[in-house]
Amino acid sequence: MRNYNKHPLRIFIGVGHGGYDPGAVNKTLGLTEAGINLTIALLMERDLKRHGVQVQLSRYTDEDDRLKEEIAECNAYNPDFAVEIHTNAGGGTGFEVYYQLEPWEHSKLSLEMAKRFDTNVQTHFGVKTRGIKTNRNLGWLSQVQAPCVLVENFFIDGERAAWYAEPAQLKRFAKAYVCAILDYYGMAYVADNSSCQMVKYQVLDANGAKECASRAVLIDGNWYVHLRQFSQNLGKDVHYDNGANKITVYSPEDYKVSETGFGLLRIRDYETRLDRVMAGIE
Ligand SMILES: [Zn+2]
Repeated sequence: MRNYNKHPLRIFIGVGHGGYDPGAVNKTLGLTEAGINLTIALLMERDLKRHGVQVQLSRYTDEDDRLKEEIAECNAYNPDFAVEIHTNAGGGTGFEVYYQLEPWEHSKLSLEMAKRFDTNVQTHFGVKTRGIKTNRNLGWLSQVQAPCVLVENFFIDGERAAWYAEPAQLKRFAKAYVCAILDYYGMAYVADNSSCQMVKYQVLDANGAKECASRAVLIDGNWYVHLRQFSQNLGKDVHYDNGANKITVYSPEDYKVSETGFGLLRIRDYETRLDRVMAGIE
């Protein structure tokens, strides 16, 4: 598990095609591959950022975005992991994911990631896939200087093409991919209800542990809760354990003891106006 408060996880998303190059098209349904790839990438960006992950896309609009430029941008960003998004075409069916063969230290992570993409697409859509593949001739896989995969979404001209007209299906793709990435890094996916949800937490102090509950919302990897206001009033700090999906409020003395713990949210670190507003202080 990473301490992504100190070393935020960085993900680069290559958005296939764009601008002069629409990629594959489905004229009957009015779909372009460039558009589908971008929508899924933007949904992934929002979801990953919600979990505190840093994200850069190769493009954010329908603009020219040559593979050479994507690779250069990705290498300049120096991510922990990169994924290139494409949508398959040519009259087949199913999802496929490609992993890197070289260098070997990337290949292992790439294959592990590919397995997670494959499994998550199967579970989220309830369908079989075309499996995990590799291809030495794909520039993305051979020139990106970070562990990476390349995904080919369901065929734009296949039996599931109509799904691309449904926002819920595009969201399902994004969620499947985000779950794959988070799972590799040992982070739990937290549902986005766009509203507060009830979280249970413990308050630890000299008197022992007390079980409590409060409304909270997850934004940029931090739980924003009235709990923080409550904690600050008591001069306490908040720890969020992604693995256990659990919040603990520490007294500062206890907190020093557990300094090595990851995901410790020091209330005094929340100094931006957004933090204060979200915490209900302003
Ligand atoms: Zn493509």
